[in-house]
Amino acid sequence: MARILVGIVGYGTIGRRVAEAVMAQDDMDLVGVAKTRPDYAAIQASRAGLGIYVPKPELAEAFESSGVKVKGTVEDLLSTVQVVVDATPAGVGSSYKSLYTRHGVKQVYQGGEKPDVAQVSFSSLCNYEEAIGKNSVRVVSCNTTGLLRLICSLDKSLGVRSVRAFIVRRAADPGEYKKGPINSIVLDPPKTPSHHAHDVKTILKDLDIETAAVIVPTTLMHVHHVRVRLSKRASKRDVLDALSESPRIVVLPGRTGIKSTAQLVEAARFARPRADIPELVVFEDSISVSGDEVSLFQAVHQESIVVPENIDAIRAVSGLEKDPVRSISKTDETLRIGRKYFFV
Ligand code: NAD
Repeated sequence: MARILVGIVGYGTIGRRVAEAVMAQDDMDLVGVAKTRPDYAAIQASRAGLGIYVPKPELAEAFESSGVKVKGTVEDLLSTVQVVVDATPAGVGSSYKSLYTRHGVKQVYQGGEKPDVAQVSFSSLCNYEEAIGKNSVRVVSCNTTGLLRLICSLDKSLGVRSVRAFIVRRAADPGEYKKGPINSIVLDPPKTPSHHAHDVKTILKDLDIETAAVIVPTTLMHVHHVRVRLSKRASKRDVLDALSESPRIVVLPGRTGIKSTAQLVEAARFARPRADIPELVVFEDSISVSGDEVSLFQAVHQESIVVPENIDAIRAVSGLEKDPVRSISKTDETLRIGRKYFFV
């Protein structure tokens, strides 16, 4: 079987995890990663034997003097790969688009880019088929990925008429020492809806959805309170069945005693590399169903939730796997994601 040759431009929170996930697949090879600075992540990548590429030839000297061997420029990387995953900071990806296009490589962007950077916005559980064979896709942001996993899973068996979500956002990733707030709750933005509703609608165009968000001083995870109006009356059992049948969603029982992101991440620290939680975690005791309305709390691990979606997106654009179920289960088995592999 031909293996897809993949390059990653941007090697931070998301790029590092996607690189590792690509290396775990038997149908793709990681050719190399591109970075701008010879920092600790570059040193670790170099020690792990990854091919390191730089945006401009003149940057190579700084890398070499930090002991990081450079294989070439981003252009060299692009001339070798079939798919590039752009995981540069929000807005930088679009500035690379013309270069990627000139090299004829398929492009997978992240949710920090505007939707028009790609032909399709992507969520594995909602619209895998739309991305098959496309030249460019954008994996939606971590919060949007979490919302879409919930909505499309409920919609599949119960139908979804409308969604109202309140999003409590983490302020920064754990390594981001310069970001805040450190002592405030920030309306994000003051006006509603927040951008998440628009982002969900890049995939579910006709959905009635409103979202509001605040940013709080934590780095661990986001938490959502979501109210979903279904197409029909349902019981809590129906909702639990719909969520349990869905990949990448874990319903966390109350008996675990976990009622905070701190406990969730602490439990993951003893079970998972880097304490990553790519599953959407729904708190079972928070699920309340009245007539056709469901409400619940869910938690999103911003650093890792989009990683399996990036792997599926690579398969979809390359046209190697046309069946979403097969791609999702292959990704989840190799990355040990899902109820079977959950840590509590
Ligand atoms: P990050 O800042 O952690 O990493 C970005 C990387 O890109 C760094 O290695 C940086 O050196 C590199 N870089 C910067 N400019 C570059 C250039 N011109 N060429 C090559 N490399 C360059 O960013 P991140 O958090 O991984 O975010 C990446 C994307 O993923 C963004 O679109 C973001 O919105 C999205 N995203 C982030 C999260 C999250 O919580 N961190 C979650 C989901 C999606």
